[in-house]
Amino acid sequence: MTARLINSLNGLADYHVHTRFSMDSEADLVAICEAAVAKGLDEIAFTDHVDFGPVDPPTSFLPSTGYLTTIETCRARWGTRLTIRAGAEIGEPHLFPEKAARILSHGDFDFFIGSAHYGVSLDPSSGIEGLQPTWHSTYFEQPLDQAYEAYFQQILALAKTGDFDVLGHVDLIKRDAREFGHPYDGPEPYADLIRAALRAVVERGKGIEINTSPLARGQPEPCPSLDILRWYRELGGEILTLGSDAHRPEAVGTYFDVALEMARAAGFTRLARFERRQIKWTEI
Ligand SMILES: [Zn+2]
Ligand SMILES: [Zn+2]
Repeated sequence: MTARLINSLNGLADYHVHTRFSMDSEADLVAICEAAVAKGLDEIAFTDHVDFGPVDPPTSFLPSTGYLTTIETCRARWGTRLTIRAGAEIGEPHLFPEKAARILSHGDFDFFIGSAHYGVSLDPSSGIEGLQPTWHSTYFEQPLDQAYEAYFQQILALAKTGDFDVLGHVDLIKRDAREFGHPYDGPEPYADLIRAALRAVVERGKGIEINTSPLARGQPEPCPSLDILRWYRELGGEILTLGSDAHRPEAVGTYFDVALEMARAAGFTRLARFERRQIKWTEI
């Protein structure tokens, strides 16, 4: 842990933040900006949920309601003290490309996370009907290794064909599993799938994030774990963002000291930021 970061997140950017424009958050955008400035962050990206899965509520509110205008209001208020990016976390963009394109093609967004929140059925005949949300306990009624493999299959498909800037929480399945009390012994049994996904990310010029939300839930490591981050680096991965996945203002930037140390340990010397989906680098 770096001493100078204990009291300040100076120079860092939180690129995964949810607000009241997400179904699972009531966070006020102004309160989030205040928290970010108080913690020393100099940039945040709002990344509210856009989901099309079978158990998701219809989320056509982005960008048709006041999301972008509210972000504009925040920008006017915070000026140069906090750079505020407009983003979205799109669930399974590879499975719903036409719906996702309505957001992805909107010129006023800076940044998109592509995330998998569903396992894909290992039964190829079941198609999209076989999608099961990993945040439901019923997902883990199947054998655990199958549940993990099905999730990483989804990650691979997303990495190969989804439109996004950064692939979200690569091994999120461990966070969901642990929330339900299931063991997770690391990525090694699924290394071929995960490496193939990371290779696709690199070849397509996209990135991944370090998502610190498991730490905020008392779990031992962020998403991804250090070994997956190292695999990504070994495969030539360069594009990396940090995200708290905050759904409350006080959670913005949490455990970024841990994430920064991880990034450095894996060999990263800079982090990515985005403006209108173009990368801007900051040294770490
Ligand atoms: Zn997510
Ligand atoms: Zn999220």
